[in-house]
Amino acid sequence: MAALTNMTLKAALDGLSTKAFSAEELARAHVSAIAAANPHLNAFVLETPDKAIEMARASDERRAKGEAGPLEGASIGVKDLFCTEGVQSTAGSKILNGFKPPYESTVTANLWRDGAVMLGKLNMDEFAMGSSNETSAFGPVSNPWKAAGSNQALTPGGSSGGSASAVAADLCLAATASDTGGSIRQPAAFTGTVGIKPTYGRCSRYGMIAFASSLDQAGPIAKTVEDAAILLTSMSGHDAKDSTSLDIETPDFASFVGKSIKGLRIGIPDEYRLDGMPSEISKLWDEGIEWLKAAGCEIKRVSLPHTKYALPAYYIIAPAEASSNLARYDGMRYGLRVDGGSLIDTYEKTRAEGFGAEVKRRVLIGAYVLSAGYYDAYYLKAQRVRRRIAEDFDKAFEEVDALLTPTAPSAAFALGDRVSDPIAMYLNDVFTVTTNLAGLPGLSLPAGLSGEGLPLGLQLIGRALDEGTLFSIAGVMEDAAQFRAKPTRWW
Ligand code: GLN
Repeated sequence: MAALTNMTLKAALDGLSTKAFSAEELARAHVSAIAAANPHLNAFVLETPDKAIEMARASDERRAKGEAGPLEGASIGVKDLFCTEGVQSTAGSKILNGFKPPYESTVTANLWRDGAVMLGKLNMDEFAMGSSNETSAFGPVSNPWKAAGSNQALTPGGSSGGSASAVAADLCLAATASDTGGSIRQPAAFTGTVGIKPTYGRCSRYGMIAFASSLDQAGPIAKTVEDAAILLTSMSGHDAKDSTSLDIETPDFASFVGKSIKGLRIGIPDEYRLDGMPSEISKLWDEGIEWLKAAGCEIKRVSLPHTKYALPAYYIIAPAEASSNLARYDGMRYGLRVDGGSLIDTYEKTRAEGFGAEVKRRVLIGAYVLSAGYYDAYYLKAQRVRRRIAEDFDKAFEEVDALLTPTAPSAAFALGDRVSDPIAMYLNDVFTVTTNLAGLPGLSLPAGLSGEGLPLGLQLIGRALDEGTLFSIAGVMEDAAQFRAKPTRWW
């Protein structure tokens, strides 16, 4: 059944609708692919084969009755950050060990409403804090890609490393993911997949285990631009259960793919040309610019002068919000509890045992920057910087319709390479955190291969709520890039 797993989401939906195969056959093919690959890739933290077959059968019945939804029968993976009713949801943390939510996240509920089938829960950095999937309590995920001539295991990126690895290795047609500072786009870039973080408020955060609530957004990781558009359309929509969810219509994002982009103005931000950036990244960026010129776009240099403050501001705001969000894990209501001699002792033992080192680091930084003595110097200052960054984008978007940048400053790096150096790890997010701070949509698409034969991504940043334009541009770039490479199977 290998052919069934090699398909794009679009091709699978077409095949299901012409009855070339059933949802059950499709689910079974993915279930066996996962069983064979997961001991090597560690992309899934929980496989739910029985649930997948049951959901697939129900889907086939709906189709037989003529009640097919837009994702009817599609086999999907779910990042373990999304609460799934009755199915363990841990956000990659030991502290949520055994937690089976009594409710479903809105994003996943939307997918099931539209007919999708769940294959299981995908590995991720603990509470989505990380860029390499190495902070997960379930151990790191391996990238299906390896450098030419090397057997070294590489990171699939993070925090949505399980989602990216699973999609790249054809273990699911597409996956949900989340992005607080780059966690959809950087893993997509590292694995040759497409990922989009939509405008803040497009997807409901209800039932997404919170990291930094003012930055967190759900989005898809998929095999093609069109697949990402199809999945995002289902994931999006207003939800009264999230007060930051936008009460607006969801466009049919797939209808934007294939549109002409002639006459669009594309901005190239000066500040994203970093000193010491690998030349192959600059070269790829220049190539992307050429593709857009050839498609009739006007290319303009723009300036985003506060870019250099984005990482420091992000690494104050995100931990501040995280320290507050993670206060709820006290061993009292759900998840892990380590009993101590008193209530406080139980809190302390539970949190000491339940959280990993990176999460503890963020809780400490967050509590520090929110403390009475340092609130103005750090947190308030970072909020002001955040405003300036958003204003930089507003100004740029007076002159251009979208921005083109690299997604990450390097290709996938080796597992173990940067774990002991948090600052080096944080630098990975240099091109992605700005859109989270400004609430804007950002899309990463595979654009080429590095000298070592590893995927490299380019990022498109759009105006708020203008994901449609990003999908149109990405569609044209995907055609130009002709990125057809697949990882060589070793798993
Ligand atoms: N790598 C960033 C961090 O560690 C972003 C993570 C994310 O987007 N969830 O915070």
